[in-house]
Amino acid sequence: MLITMKFGGTSVGSPEAITNVVKIVKQEVQAGNAVVVVVSAMSGVTDSLLSSVKQAASGNKWGYLSTADKLRDRHEDTLNQLLPPGELREKAINQIKSLLVEYSEICNAVSILTEETPRIADAIVSYGERMSARLVAAALNHHGVKAEAHDAGDYLLTDDRFQSATPIWDETQVRVDRKLMPLIEQGVTPVITGFIGATASGAITTLGRGGSDYSGAIFAAATNSDELIIWTDVDGVMTTDPRVDKRARVLPYVSYQEVGELAFYGAKVLHPKTVQPVLDKAIPIRVRNTFNPSFAGTLIGPEGAPSATIIKAVTSIRKVSLLTVSGKGMIGVPGIAGRTFLAAANAGASILMISQSSSEQSFCFLVTDNSAEQVKESIETQLESEISARDIDRVDVRDDVVIITAVGAGMSGTPGVAGRVFSTMGNNGINVMAIAQGSSECSISFVVAEADLERAVIKLHDLALESVPV
Ligand code: ADP
Ligand code: ASP
Ligand code: MG
Repeated sequence: MLITMKFGGTSVGSPEAITNVVKIVKQEVQAGNAVVVVVSAMSGVTDSLLSSVKQAASGNKWGYLSTADKLRDRHEDTLNQLLPPGELREKAINQIKSLLVEYSEICNAVSILTEETPRIADAIVSYGERMSARLVAAALNHHGVKAEAHDAGDYLLTDDRFQSATPIWDETQVRVDRKLMPLIEQGVTPVITGFIGATASGAITTLGRGGSDYSGAIFAAATNSDELIIWTDVDGVMTTDPRVDKRARVLPYVSYQEVGELAFYGAKVLHPKTVQPVLDKAIPIRVRNTFNPSFAGTLIGPEGAPSATIIKAVTSIRKVSLLTVSGKGMIGVPGIAGRTFLAAANAGASILMISQSSSEQSFCFLVTDNSAEQVKESIETQLESEISARDIDRVDVRDDVVIITAVGAGMSGTPGVAGRVFSTMGNNGINVMAIAQGSSECSISFVVAEADLERAVIKLHDLALESVPV
C-alpha cells in the first residue's frame, strides 16, 4: 500500500508531536507500506513569517531579524531534543541556518525596496514548511526511516496567482512520475513541504492559508495513493468546531460532498479544496489525531451514507460582510444581479453566499470583510446610471454578521428540515437576515448577527447531536 500522510502545524509543532509523527510513519513503513509525508510549518510559524513581510516592507529590520532568531532557536531546540549530537543533527541545523540566511536576505531586499508583493510574501512564507520538512526528515532518519526532505516546488507546478495558486495538473503528474515515484520505489520516504508550489519559471507560490491539506490531496492523487490521512490535533471531523461547543462529537463517516460543504462554510479542519484532487480516483481520506493515534478518526469517501440525523454538522464563518443591493427600479430589470456579481469579481472577491427576496426589490450576498469596501465601490461604479436614475437606492454593507451552515446529505428530499432550522432560531430569539440553500441540497446557510454566533451554533448543534452515537 502507498499512503500519503499530511501532518498539520500542531502535529509538527513540538518535539513531543514530532516523536508521535515518527512513530506513526515508522509503523507503516515497518508494516511494509510506502509513505509520502507532507508537512505544514510548525504551528504559528506561517503567521510570524507573514508579519515579518510587513515588518520588512516598513523597514523594521529589527522585527524580521528577531523573527529569524526566534525561528532558528525553535527549530534548533527541537532538533536538539529529538536527535543526539552527531552528523545528522549538525546537517539539519546547518540546513535550517542556511534557509534562515536566505530568508533574512530576502527581507533585507524588501526593506530596501519598501515594497511587498504577493510574490515576495509567498517566497518568504515558504521558509516555514521548508524548515519543518528538514526537521521531520532528520527525526525520521534518526529512527531508521530512510527519509528525504523535498521542496514541493520540484513537483507541484502551479499558475502564478501568488498566495492562491492553482496546480497545473498535467505537468505536476509528469514530474511526480519522473522524479518522485522512482524515489518511493527505492524505499525512500519523501517528506514534502505542504502549502507551496512553484511556477514554470521557478518562482515559489502558495496554495492559500491552510493549503497543506490540499497539498496532501494533490500528492495523494498524483502518486495514486491508496489512502490520504490528514493527521491533525482533533479526533476527526466533528459535529461542530469543538472550540465553539465542547459537546462536539466525531463523525465516523462523511461523504466528499458533505465535507466539501463543511470546509467551504468554515470548518477549519480541512481546506475546502482538499476533496477536489482525490474525487475522481475515489481515494479515501481519513482525518486522524496525531495525539491519539489509536483512534480511527473520520473516514471520508464517495458514498453519501445516510445518518440518523438529517443535520450532521454545523459550521460558521466569521469576518464576512453582507452587501445588499436594493431599489424599486430593479423589479423585472434583467442583468442587475449579473452585473453586480461581475463587479464583485472585478474587485477580486469571491462570493460566499447569495440570497434574493421574492419581491425582487433587493438581493444580498456575502464576501470576506476585507474585500467589502472595494466590492461596494466596484458595484457603485458598475451600476452608476441605475443609481443616478434612482432605480437602485443604495448598496449597503454590514460587517457585524456571520454565516451559519447546517450540513447533511439527508436534507435532500426530507421535507421540513429548513422549517426546523428556522423555528429553532425563532424560538431562541435569533434574527435570520438572509437564507440560502445549496443547489446540492446538502446544506442550508443563513446569516445572523455576530453577537448571536455561539447561541445559533449551539442551538442548531442540538439538532445534529440528537442521534450521533456518543
Ligand atoms: P492543522 O494544523 O492540523 O491543519 P487546523 O488548525 O488547520 O489543524 O484544523 C484543525 C482545527 O479545526 C481543530 O483544532 C478545530 O478547532 C477546528 N475545527 C473547526 N471545525 C471543526 C470540525 N467540524 N471538526 C473538527 N475540527 C474543527
Ligand atoms: N502553514 C500554512 C498555514 O498556516 C499551511 C497549512 O498549515 O496548511 O496556513
Ligand atoms: Mg489546517
